Amino acid sequence: MTRGTDADRPGATDARGQVRPAARAAASPPRRPSLVELSAEALTAVLSRLGEPAYRGPQIEQLIYRQFAGRVADMSNLPAALRARLAAQYDVWPLTLQTYAVSRNGDTLKALFRLADGVCVEAVLMLYDQRQTLCISSQAGCAMACAFCATGQDGLTRNLTSGEIVSQVLYLAQLLAQRDARALGLQARSDRVSNVVFMGMGEPFHNYDAVWRAIPRLASDRYFGLGARRITISTVGLAPQIAAMAQEPWPVRLAVSLHAPNDALRAQLVPPARRWPLREVLRAVRAYTRRTHRRVSFEYVMLDGINDHPQLGSDLGRLVQGLPCHVNLIPFNPIPGGRYRPSPDGRLREFARRVGAAGIPVTIRVKRGVEMDAGCGQLKRRAVIRAPRPGTRPR
Ligand code: SAH
Repeated sequence: MTRGTDADRPGATDARGQVRPAARAAASPPRRPSLVELSAEALTAVLSRLGEPAYRGPQIEQLIYRQFAGRVADMSNLPAALRARLAAQYDVWPLTLQTYAVSRNGDTLKALFRLADGVCVEAVLMLYDQRQTLCISSQAGCAMACAFCATGQDGLTRNLTSGEIVSQVLYLAQLLAQRDARALGLQARSDRVSNVVFMGMGEPFHNYDAVWRAIPRLASDRYFGLGARRITISTVGLAPQIAAMAQEPWPVRLAVSLHAPNDALRAQLVPPARRWPLREVLRAVRAYTRRTHRRVSFEYVMLDGINDHPQLGSDLGRLVQGLPCHVNLIPFNPIPGGRYRPSPDGRLREFARRVGAAGIPVTIRVKRGVEMDAGCGQLKRRAVIRAPRPGTRPR
C-alpha cells in the first residue's frame, strides 16, 4: 500500500511528469510461469528448445486465445509428450476462480479471481440484448482513493501483469463458449464476450504498460480478436496518459471519470484531481479527440446532495461543450458503512436534462448486480455468496 508519504500520493509524478509505477516493491512474481505471459518470440524460443517445429507457437496461441484452453492438459491436439513437458513447467492462466455470484435474474455474473500470490481481483460479466460486456481489473486495489469507491478505501496492493489482465477475459470467454454459463443460471444470448471495459478494480493508466501489452492480445485477430473499438479504458483523469493513449496504434475507446464540473468539488471526490485539474484533463482529452477523431465518454457518479445539484448539471454540459463526447451518469452503488447515498431518480433525471440542454448526448447507466454487491471492489469486501473450492471451475 503506497499511501502515506507525499511522493506516494495518488497520481504522484516523477521528474518527467510520469505517474509513478505502482508499488514495484510490493509486486511478487507468479510462482509458476504462465503461457499467456509469454511474448510470441518467447513462446517460440521455449518450443524450439523443446525441439518443436515452428508452427507449434501459433498452434498453441490458437488453443489459448480461440479455444480458451485454460490448462496445458486441455490442449488435447498437442502430442502427449509435449503436453507433459509443458505442463511440468507452465500454467496457462495465472489465476483461478476463487468465488462467483450470479444475479437473481441471470443478467450479471461477478467473478473473484485469485492470482498466484493469493491476491484477489474482480471481474463482472454483464449481459444485454445486443452485447455481453466484461468489466475487468487492471490492478489489485487502487491508489487513487476516490472517496466513494470501495476499491479505493484499501489502497493499492499491486499492478496486474498483462497475462493477469488477459486471463480474466479468457476465463469468462471460456465459460460462455462452453455453455457453462447456463448451468450457472446466466441468461446468455450468445457464447461470446462482445465488449471489454477496464472499469473493474484499479486505475488502468497507473498500470499503463501492462494494460497496453494486454490490448493487442485482446484486440488482434491473431489472438482473442475482439477488435480495439470494442475495448474501453476508463481513467480517473491522468492527463499525461490520456495524451500518450492518443499515440497508441490501437483505436481503443476512452472514458474519463469526471464526477464534478469544478476542481474544488472534484478534488474532494477524486484525489488525483489535485495534481491534474480539469483544465489539464480536458486539454489532454481535446488533443486526443483531435488526433484520433474518436468520441470520448465522461462518467459521472451521482451522489445524493454532493454533486447532483441541477446547476452542476448545467455546468457539466457547458464544461464539455465542443468536444465530441457523451456523458454517462452512473447511479451510485452504496458501499456498506459508507457515507454517500445514491441520488434520487428525479434528481438524476433533472441532472441529465440539464446536461442534455447543453447539446450533450447523455445516458443514465442501467444498474447492474446491485443486490449482489457488484460495485467496484464490493464482492471482495463481502461474505462469499457461492464458493467453489479455490481453483475449481464452475462446472
Ligand atoms: N480508475 C478508473 C476505473 C474505475 S471503475 C476510473 O476512475 O475511471 C469505473 C467507474 O466506476 C469510475 O467512474 C468510478 O468512479 C465508478 N465507481 C466506483 N465506485 C462506484 C460505486 N460504488 N458506485 C458507482 N460507480 C462507482
